Amino acid sequence: MLDNYEKFLDIFTQDIQAMFEHQKDYIYCKEGCSHCCEYGEYPFTEIEFLYLIEGYKKLTPDTKNKIKENFKSTVKDKDGYYVCPFLINKKCSVYSNRALVCRTFGLLNKESDGTVNGPFCGKLGLNYSNVYDKETKRLLMDVIEKNHYKNLPRVFNLNIDNIRTLELVKELGIEFGIQKSLYDWLEEYFSN
Ligand code: SF4
Ligand code: SF4
Repeated sequence: MLDNYEKFLDIFTQDIQAMFEHQKDYIYCKEGCSHCCEYGEYPFTEIEFLYLIEGYKKLTPDTKNKIKENFKSTVKDKDGYYVCPFLINKKCSVYSNRALVCRTFGLLNKESDGTVNGPFCGKLGLNYSNVYDKETKRLLMDVIEKNHYKNLPRVFNLNIDNIRTLELVKELGIEFGIQKSLYDWLEEYFSN
C-alpha cells in the first residue's frame, strides 16, 4: 500500500515544486523558516500518517524520545493550533516522510466555498504578503498590475478532497482513508 503511495508522492512532489517555482515572485520559503510547523492543526489522512510513522521508525532512539517528549508537552491554543512535535531545532525530523499539507503549505489554495485562502505567514510579511490581503481574503489586483510579475498569482486546489479525485490517485489505487489532526493520530499511536 505504501509503495504505491510513495510512487504517487514522487510525481506529486514534482508537481508541487513546479507550482512553487511558477509562483516564486510571491514565495519567501527558505531553510530555517518554520512558522508553518509551529502553528497548525496538521490534518493528515491515514495513509499520510502511516507513511510519517515509517519515517519515525527509522530515527535514532534519542530523536524518537525527543519527539515523544515534544508530544507530551504539546499545548493547543484556543483554535486547536500547536507546534508540530516532529519539529526539532527548526527542522522537520521526518522530512522525506512529511504529509501533503507539509508539502503544499505556502501556496494560495481554494477553499470549498470558493474563497481564496492565503497562507497565514503572509501576515508575517512572508508568502503572498506582497499581493494578498489576509483580512479581506482578496488578491491586491492593483499592486499585481503595477509590478509586472513574471507570472500572476495562481490559486491551486490542493484540498485533500480534490487530491483524492486525481487520475494518478485512481491509477495507483490509493486509498487515503480518514483524516484527523496529527495530534489525534499521535495520541492514539503513543497510547498503544
Ligand atoms: S510557508 Fe511561510 S512559514 Fe512556511 S517556510 Fe514558507 S515562508 Fe516560512
Ligand atoms: S511533519 Fe515536519 S513538515 Fe510537517 S508540520 Fe511537522 S515538522 Fe513541519
